[in-house]
Amino acid sequence: MSNTTIKLQQKKVNLLDFTTEKLKDFFIEKGEKPFRATQIIKWMHQYCVDDFEQMTNVSKTLRSELQKFAEIRAPEVVLDQASSDGTHKWLLRLEDGNCIETVFIPEKDRGTLCVSSQVGCALDCTFCSTARQGFNRNLTVAEIIGQLWAAKRSLQPDAGNERVISNVVMMGMGEPLLNFSHVVDAMKLMLDDNAYGLSKRRVTLSTSGVVPALDRLRGEVEVSLALSLHAGNDQLRNKLVPINKKYPLKVLMDACKRYMKGKAARERITIEYVMLDGVNDTDQHARELIYTLKGVPSKVNLIPFNPFPETRYKRSPIKRINQFRDILIASGLIVVTRRTRGDDIDAACGQLAGQVNDRSRREIHFSRIEQET
Ligand code: SAH
Repeated sequence: MSNTTIKLQQKKVNLLDFTTEKLKDFFIEKGEKPFRATQIIKWMHQYCVDDFEQMTNVSKTLRSELQKFAEIRAPEVVLDQASSDGTHKWLLRLEDGNCIETVFIPEKDRGTLCVSSQVGCALDCTFCSTARQGFNRNLTVAEIIGQLWAAKRSLQPDAGNERVISNVVMMGMGEPLLNFSHVVDAMKLMLDDNAYGLSKRRVTLSTSGVVPALDRLRGEVEVSLALSLHAGNDQLRNKLVPINKKYPLKVLMDACKRYMKGKAARERITIEYVMLDGVNDTDQHARELIYTLKGVPSKVNLIPFNPFPETRYKRSPIKRINQFRDILIASGLIVVTRRTRGDDIDAACGQLAGQVNDRSRREIHFSRIEQET
């Protein structure tokens, strides 16, 4: 086979995989000026351009050079659903045929995009429908930031500076801290003024509590943190969020304290607590939660459970949620009950499923856990 044939067969480099810093290094290696990287990052992320020909301030020679070895490829939108409350859900197809979901939630003062980090999820949280899909693989940086890219392009076809998406939460499918380096690079792009320029208070990573990765996160990128707690005692949390067996509450809460050390007084970890009827919603559970959160700067988000087919859980009645909330508030905690959005299109928390080609045989694992709980 001749050299040219080999070259033609090489896969193109996807420039959505690069942070500004990494693209600069890449260009320097190719003998290009590093400022070209900033120009191209702006074209890609601020103006959602995926065609080098449209990059008018980039020299013709570089543009045609880029055509040869590079591409700008985001996941393909295969379904765009709008809920009666304005929520949007996109089904995005990846190169390997798997599909992931991304959700946009408009509110009066902000627009939040809920982004996925993995194809499926490797954790077994018993109340989450993504868990039922099993796990296939980590998303690439291009596939994570590509969700923001595709949503921005779909919501503001003319792109530009108007900011429809003001907040990003890594609360879609997957456990972001188990896809550490790709999630970190994607979040760097979210914060980068040459890309999306979101404030660090408006980019939130939600985790079930992967302690070693949580310790690494602080040194890598500064974002807000949400913790999926759901129980204030180890016995119950072991059942609901099985990774608790590896990193129990004491270890996890100490890691949260380390994460918050030296941060401004107004900064808090969002504690997510899904309200499951008769499972974790009694007065005693509220008191356990208060005890667990002692010394952790936190605000509690109570999430009414969103059902999905074949789940055995039920949403706590609103009266119970309110009583639970009042006990927390009386102890001095800040508490909000999350409004359920987009449930008519299965876009609410924990309902994202996509189309995952499960490689983990997790359904077997799952039924075992169900028998144990
Ligand atoms: N793996 C990460 C991010 C994905 S889950 C994490 O665990 O935080 C995002 C949020 O949705 C979590 O707080 C999760 O507990 C919540 N969630 C999952 N299933 C839910 C359901 N069925 N109803 C309501 N919230 C749910």
